[in-house]
Amino acid sequence: MSHQFDLHTLNQQFESATPQDILRWASANFGETLAVVTSFQITGIVTLHMLQDIAPHTPVLTLDTGFIFPETHQLIDALEHRFMLNLTRVRPQQSAIEQASTYGDRLWERNPDQCCRLRKTQPLDQALRGFDGWITGLRRDQSLNRANTPIISIDSRTGRYKIAPFANWSEEMIWTYIHAYQLPYNTLHEMGYPSIGCWTCTRAVTVGDDIRSGRWTNHSKTECGIHLSHEVKQHA
Ligand code: SF4
Repeated sequence: MSHQFDLHTLNQQFESATPQDILRWASANFGETLAVVTSFQITGIVTLHMLQDIAPHTPVLTLDTGFIFPETHQLIDALEHRFMLNLTRVRPQQSAIEQASTYGDRLWERNPDQCCRLRKTQPLDQALRGFDGWITGLRRDQSLNRANTPIISIDSRTGRYKIAPFANWSEEMIWTYIHAYQLPYNTLHEMGYPSIGCWTCTRAVTVGDDIRSGRWTNHSKTECGIHLSHEVKQHA
């Protein structure tokens, strides 16, 4: 990784900066080694909209696990066309059928950590080769696990800078932006799905439930693994 920054100072400055300022900084400092990683949920959509005015050709990576809802595919196709995204659909080494033949049927029920490793974290790590920094839609209000999310950190799992420009935004602020600019969003949100992943591991929730409570409902698992790391708070 060729970039070195004082993360403590940057995080202090970024707390009162706008997401646009942070995206501008990231684009200016990482240039072609910056990517957006998004599953096209609401924060990702706002990120991509803001980048239209800042750095519209920024590479966008999305994980196509083979278990994505049809509604999510439709949204990705629509936004790819509307924003003319420089988009890569990152796919696992094995198809769903090949995985079933190697590891047995319905691996996500028996060992979701292994399934996420094969279909999400390993393909993402591979796709991030050549990038020094990646932008994520993590927000502190999404769950207790995410309550201390720094705006910029070094992600120890990928060894790269991870930038969360919306870490201190609320879900309400994101929806206000989406409606103000009349941006499209996943229609599943209107059917009780506040957080959307693979159809195999996502269910609708009832009003008042934690927004990520519909993910991996029958397991203690709360994260796919992409964001499980110990952030290195100071410059490397
Ligand atoms: S969310 Fe479920 S189906 Fe998707 S990769 Fe993880 S365990 Fe597998």
